[in-house]
Amino acid sequence: MVTPSDARAEPFVAVPMLAALAEQAGVTIVENCAVRGLDLAAGKVAGVVTEQGRLRCDQVLVAAGAWSSLFLRHHGLSLPQLSVRASVAQTLPMPDMPEISGVDDVFAWRRRLDGGFTLAAGATHDFFCGPDAVRHFGKYIPQMRRDLSQTQIHPRAPAPGFPDGWLTQRRWSNDQETPFERMRILNPVPNRVLLRRVQMAFERALPDLGPTRLLRTWAGMIDVMPDTVPVLDAAPIDGLYVATGLSGHGFGIGPGVGRVMASLMRGDAPGHDLTRFRWSRFTDGSKIDIGPTF
Ligand SMILES: Cc1cc2nc3c(=O)[nH]c(=O)nc-3n(C[C@H](O)[C@H](O)[C@H](O)COP(=O)(O)OP(=O)(O)OC[C@H]3O[C@@H](n4cnc5c(N)ncnc54)[C@H](O)[C@@H]3O)c2cc1C
Repeated sequence: MVTPSDARAEPFVAVPMLAALAEQAGVTIVENCAVRGLDLAAGKVAGVVTEQGRLRCDQVLVAAGAWSSLFLRHHGLSLPQLSVRASVAQTLPMPDMPEISGVDDVFAWRRRLDGGFTLAAGATHDFFCGPDAVRHFGKYIPQMRRDLSQTQIHPRAPAPGFPDGWLTQRRWSNDQETPFERMRILNPVPNRVLLRRVQMAFERALPDLGPTRLLRTWAGMIDVMPDTVPVLDAAPIDGLYVATGLSGHGFGIGPGVGRVMASLMRGDAPGHDLTRFRWSRFTDGSKIDIGPTF
């Protein structure tokens, strides 16, 4: 299937441009500064406590990717978010081919600005067990039934300190260093065996391109929800909002999510029916209704 309205962008070009536009519009971006917890007064948000001190505000949006559930648990809130590892490879520049991106069950590809291709597994991902996986196991049964053959299960996180590591610190006081500071970037080692399979499948599918040579490989953790649908909602603490669980689609839908959340927090009509994205779907007895795959 070809969808001509699809677009693609290089993250390392697009994200700094979005950040620059936000700054032009008056946003202050502070990097390398973890939020350790909320500052609450009479049960309402009164600010955040960061590693550089306290900031007063009456609204906070938790959009912490794979760290969101750990952050929320610090405040007694349970969000059934887990994460899976996605591994990616970059090829050296290769002969021209039609400027289309594609995906099947085995591999996904897209052309890069530098003439190479970005290759990734089409559906296979690595899952690492941890306390949250045990805690939320029941909610993920429908997804496991569908995806089990595509999920490589590992007994523990790739390194200490991952969001759902067995030994990751889950309780702290806001004057202590937190897991968010100890691991500022989630940077797991890629699954090289899987990437080799992806590379071979790519070469078989597009033999006219000739052999591929990989320039580099990397991986990241994709945060998921039991139904692979994000949570875009007010949280059960006055002034707290959540936009997370983008389930592998956040680069594409992130700007739209930002606009919807800004409207929601300002009290304006968000312009979309957000019922599907409510947090309470995991606690109000609703059946897990799986959305698009990641
Ligand atoms: C290999 C790979 C390929 C992908 N490919 C695609 C794709 O082709 N298309 C697509 O649409 N999506 C893709 N995604 C998914 C996309 O990258 C994510 O959905 C998106 O980045 C999620 O955005 P986010 O803002 O929710 O979280 P993140 O991008 O993870 O941002 C959260 C930020 O919050 C910070 N943070 C966490 N905790 C704290 C704290 N306590 N204090 C301060 N800061 C904190 C983190 O450091 C991080 O910078 C891919 C992901 C991976 C890993």
